[in-house]
Amino acid sequence: AIEFKDVEKSFGPTTVLKDLNFTVAPGERVTLIGPSGSGKTTILRLVMTLEELTGGYIFVDGQPLTHEDRGGKRVELPKKRTREMTTRIGMVFQQFNLFPNMTVLENIIEAPVHVLGKSKADATKEAEELLERVGLADKADAHPTRLSGGQQQRVAIARALAMNPEILLLDEVTSALDPELVGDVLGVLRDIAETTDITMLLVTHEMQFARDVSHRVMMFDGGQVLEEGPPDQIFNNPQHERTRKFLSSVL
Ligand code: ATP
Repeated sequence: AIEFKDVEKSFGPTTVLKDLNFTVAPGERVTLIGPSGSGKTTILRLVMTLEELTGGYIFVDGQPLTHEDRGGKRVELPKKRTREMTTRIGMVFQQFNLFPNMTVLENIIEAPVHVLGKSKADATKEAEELLERVGLADKADAHPTRLSGGQQQRVAIARALAMNPEILLLDEVTSALDPELVGDVLGVLRDIAETTDITMLLVTHEMQFARDVSHRVMMFDGGQVLEEGPPDQIFNNPQHERTRKFLSSVL
């Protein structure tokens, strides 16, 4: 589970998230929607500890990620501990972020070998299975720059899965793709959703996809949750005028 407790995030004088309190249960798939600048990406980056929390706590499986309460005081936890926790979390970004100087296979086995200490042979075998799964078995030795955006993104998904994550964070993973490449990437993610119990927290503007794979949709506005509920409720019967306006602008 991922639990947000009184989470606050400011960049200098600007507060972008405030009073965030919600939990993503184990195996749950939660989609964050909302206008640009409402803080959705920042939430994922906080979980991945790519941004520093400025207030409150994030717990992963009950363990505080970066800060804990000690005698009523908020205390920063050692970075090493935080790094250990984040090995259970995979993230896929809008801009694939593959290592350009490595082959597809090398990209996928890098962290399993160097972070988890797997043998190269085991990591390679698993990587080949993952490439099969994302439909890229024939691209193991290619360099990322020779692949389409959609193929690169499927490699990025395979790379995240290679760490066998409990939690997968997906940040607008199809936003940078040509429209005809979006379907293959979403197909891979649908397959993961249907065949695994990985907890997913995702930001997307693909509303049909959100509707199909999410257990819960949360509408953000101005750094806070405006409303949340099962996809049917949010998409068919939103309670807030702002949600209605947002949905009609993206659907
Ligand atoms: P989008 O859909 O456009 O990605 P979002 O809802 O994901 O939007 P965030 O990217 O989380 O929004 O940004 C929330 C706010 O925080 C924005 O106003 C943004 O300008 C600001 N912000 C994000 N990162 C930084 C940073 N490193 N320094 C200063 N401000 C930042």
